[in-house]
Amino acid sequence: MNIVDRFLQYTRINTTTSREKGAAGIMPSSDGQMVLAQLIAKELEALGMEDIVLRDTAILTATLPSNMPVSAQSASIPTVSFFAHLDTSAEQSNDTKAQIVPYNGGDICLNAELDIILKHAEFPELAQYVGDDIIVTDGTSLLGADDKAAIAAIMHALQTLKANPDILHGDVKVAFVPDEEQGLRGAKAFDVESFGADFGYTLDCCGIGEFVYENWNAGDAVITFTGQSAHPMSAKGKLKNSLLMAHQFISMLPAGEAPQYTEGREGYYWVKEMTGNSAKTVLKMDIRDFTKQGYQNRMAFLQNLSDSCAGLWGEGTVSIHLADRYENVANSLEGDASFPIEIAKEAYARNDIQMNAIPMRGGYDGAVLSQKGLPCPNIFTGAHNFHSIYEYLPVKSLQAASAVVVEVIKITAERHS
Ligand SMILES: [Zn+2]
Repeated sequence: MNIVDRFLQYTRINTTTSREKGAAGIMPSSDGQMVLAQLIAKELEALGMEDIVLRDTAILTATLPSNMPVSAQSASIPTVSFFAHLDTSAEQSNDTKAQIVPYNGGDICLNAELDIILKHAEFPELAQYVGDDIIVTDGTSLLGADDKAAIAAIMHALQTLKANPDILHGDVKVAFVPDEEQGLRGAKAFDVESFGADFGYTLDCCGIGEFVYENWNAGDAVITFTGQSAHPMSAKGKLKNSLLMAHQFISMLPAGEAPQYTEGREGYYWVKEMTGNSAKTVLKMDIRDFTKQGYQNRMAFLQNLSDSCAGLWGEGTVSIHLADRYENVANSLEGDASFPIEIAKEAYARNDIQMNAIPMRGGYDGAVLSQKGLPCPNIFTGAHNFHSIYEYLPVKSLQAASAVVVEVIKITAERHS
């Protein structure tokens, strides 16, 4: 099967994540994810993969065994792995009706009837795909290239290796996980130890050339302000207004260190949610920083600010709960552990792909997996405009993603034999 048909086939299965079922602890949160996992499992079987395991959670894993002549060197080849997620974002839930458009520049009409246009003026990066075929939606759904392009790229790479036994490789593992689009739930439930890979890559970022090995160190803060309510007749000297405490607390945060004022590697405090009344107010915040030290400083700052305010306003007026959410992948790719980055760099270069390493101002499955001991940078899928009806996938970029997977596997074997 060619990679485009493979991809289109996956897009026909609706795998929209369900936040309601997810919140109720159900995994996968939608039946479509299991249907897709079953289809991939059958394809893995047809390709002759081994150790195919499809769990009740829709987590699917399989192994392409090494084809190297057994020797001391071949035994030392680390096991490389690749991850993609089965679900699509809940921003749109309609079935996907993908179409392939030969792109000659300008706008692309997605839906004449509904007058939905993918405009070059809004998405100027389209210009680099003139002469390529672009897969788009009919404007009424996501394309789901996030992350079905990754599934197609990985499956096509396995097919390529099976068809070309002269390409020598060590053990290769693949994994398909559910519910990435709601708190990376599939990756969190993933058993890294029994999987048995030494390092891995997720394929879950955008245009050709992108590469991610840095993301946030991320944490949450929940700050509770407890006031003292009183009737206005006798409030003087008695009423302690928790809303105003929260207001004052926020005013003492470093001005400018908020999402709307920061970019690149700049960290922030995000005042995200506040609910309450004069008696009790709960403030929720996100804390993000690329460096370990910066992250710790931010968490310590909030703790100190909370302690100081409690000192000022009285015992029991302010309490804070700080929690770590995920870590920067770069923390697990330092020094001798940086080889997954080196391998990817070489794989891009051998395919004449200009690497564009971007610090990701968000989390992804690889961040969770890295924290669990499986270092996982993130390779492009080739698609643009994730989570939008304007999501599109240039065919050559999809092919390039698959070529990079094959090259990573080759280089991993070459470096150790
Ligand atoms: Zn994704």
